[in-house]
Amino acid sequence: MIEGGCNCGKIRYSSEAKPIAVAQCHCRNCQRQSGSAFSVNLLFPAATLLVSGEPAAYEDTDTESGNAVVRKFCSTCGSPLFSETRSNPALIIVKAGTLDNPGAFKPGISVWTDSQMPWVELPAGQTTFPRNAG
Ligand SMILES: [Zn+2]
Ligand SMILES: [Zn+2]
Repeated sequence: MIEGGCNCGKIRYSSEAKPIAVAQCHCRNCQRQSGSAFSVNLLFPAATLLVSGEPAAYEDTDTESGNAVVRKFCSTCGSPLFSETRSNPALIIVKAGTLDNPGAFKPGISVWTDSQMPWVELPAGQTTFPRNAG
């Protein structure tokens, strides 16, 4: 069970599901989009996510993996909320920083550590991938 939303409150969301995976993504696109060192991505079955409000969307085609990612964000306050991949529309990524309880899920993996910022320390025991997982 998760609940969350953007800074201004225009977009709210919830899911009764548990995340399939929790990943830190260190790719350059996540760094730019978040304005930070990495994204913390929670992976959910897309059908379980209930969204109120209409997020804006940007189709990010210039990704390191080559797979287009649709990035959804609040058009009023700019908070990044969700990502959808064209290659797997059954899944949706929720940005952990927008959860009402953002510390609830510890990332089990890190992806795109090729572009990890040098000062970032990863949690002990994490599985890391230089590029995409798998
Ligand atoms: Zn907002
Ligand atoms: Zn990323």
